[in-house]
Amino acid sequence: MSDCIFCKIVAGEIPSRKVYEDEDILAFHDINPVAPVHFLIIPKKHIPTLADAAPEDIPVLGKMMQMAGTLAKQAGCNDGFRTVINTGRVGCQEVYHLHIHILGGDKPLGMMLPR
Ligand code: AMP
Ligand code: ZN
Repeated sequence: MSDCIFCKIVAGEIPSRKVYEDEDILAFHDINPVAPVHFLIIPKKHIPTLADAAPEDIPVLGKMMQMAGTLAKQAGCNDGFRTVINTGRVGCQEVYHLHIHILGGDKPLGMMLPR
């Protein structure tokens, strides 16, 4: 989608600090981190929100979930981490390209949430 900031990151038109990339997904550090570890995992396909995910998206959603644990551990989150998906207006979603926030660090995160 041409005016989507995360599609532009996928296309390399906007720079990002990449954590991981394959043919289906991309992970990159959040530009405004709210925890010592804070990166995002996105599908390369433009899916606006979790509520827009279709049955055909199940494989990429599964890969995002599986890679969440793999990449969190690679980032040093060996004692747990938080995953957040904000969806739509009520979920305070800011960027309408589906993404999983991965949040971690040394200390328990409390109830602080990205928005
Ligand atoms: P959400 O409220 O779940 O839609 O979160 C969007 C997230 O994207 C926020 O945490 C922003 O800091 C992050 N973000 C926005 N633009 C960029 C960017 N160019 N590179 C990395 N992260 C970004
Ligand atoms: Zn997009």
